[in-house]
Parts: sequence; C-alpha cells; structure tokens
Amino acid sequence: MTDVYQGSCFCGAVQFTVSGAPAGMGYCHCDSCRRWSAGPVNAFTLWPPDALRITRGAEHVAAYAKTPNSHRKWCKQCGGHVFTDHPGMGLVDVYAAVLPELAFEPGVHVHYQESRLPIRDGLPKMKDLPKEMGGSGVLLPE
Ligand SMILES: [Zn+2]
Ligand SMILES: [Zn+2]
Repeated sequence: MTDVYQGSCFCGAVQFTVSGAPAGMGYCHCDSCRRWSAGPVNAFTLWPPDALRITRGAEHVAAYAKTPNSHRKWCKQCGGHVFTDHPGMGLVDVYAAVLPELAFEPGVHVHYQESRLPIRDGLPKMKDLPKEMGGSGVLLPE
C-alpha cells in the first residue's frame, strides 16, 4: 500500500495528491521564496514529479519561472501557491502548507545565509544547498 496524501489550493479549485514518501523536507530561507510567498520562510516537501497528480482544476494552474531552476505554480482563481517544479533537481516542491495530511518532518534548512528568521531548532543549516543538489554543502552555525 502506497501512502497517498490529498492537497488543495487556498480556494479548493485545484485538488491534487502526492503518493509515496517525500525525497526531502525542510525550510528554504532564500530571497526568491520569501518574496514569492510573502513570508519569512518556505516549508518545502520534495517529490519525484510522477508522485504528484492533479486530480481537479488543472486548467486553473498558472506558472512563472524567474529562473530556469524554479517553475512556480499557483491557482489562478485564488492566487494560492501550490508547487514549484525544480527541473534541474528532477523534483517538485509541494508546499508543506498545502498538504495538511502529511506529517511535516523537516530535516534541513537551506539558503540559510539569506535568512531573515533565524530558527534554533537543532537542524542542519546549509549555507546554500547540499552538494547533491548543486550547492556548496557548507554548514552554518545556528
Ligand atoms: Zn484556488
Ligand atoms: Zn527558496
């Protein structure tokens, strides 16, 4: 039995599921995530793209790519953010906030050098990204 988690946008027009287990979970502090989310930090869950299935309202999903690394997606009806495709990593970030059924277990903070909200939770703080995701792999102190 594969675990399946339901999610939706802010208004509910866009419905989707993710199945299996996330490839990673954590917090991104980068300037792009902060500006786009209008929040101090983005809680991410990363999945192989085929784990995500849009079950309703795919026609309402719009996308914007400021850089080729991140295709940010939201619902055209409510403006609620839902996913970011990361083609370079071969993963899709389904925001933790839109997956209420998934137990969010963050393992890492990324882009911590850009943080505006220091969080002392004992988790590793990557200066940018882990090496396997194309970053420096450098850890910062809390
Ligand atoms: Zn919506
Ligand atoms: Zn980010």
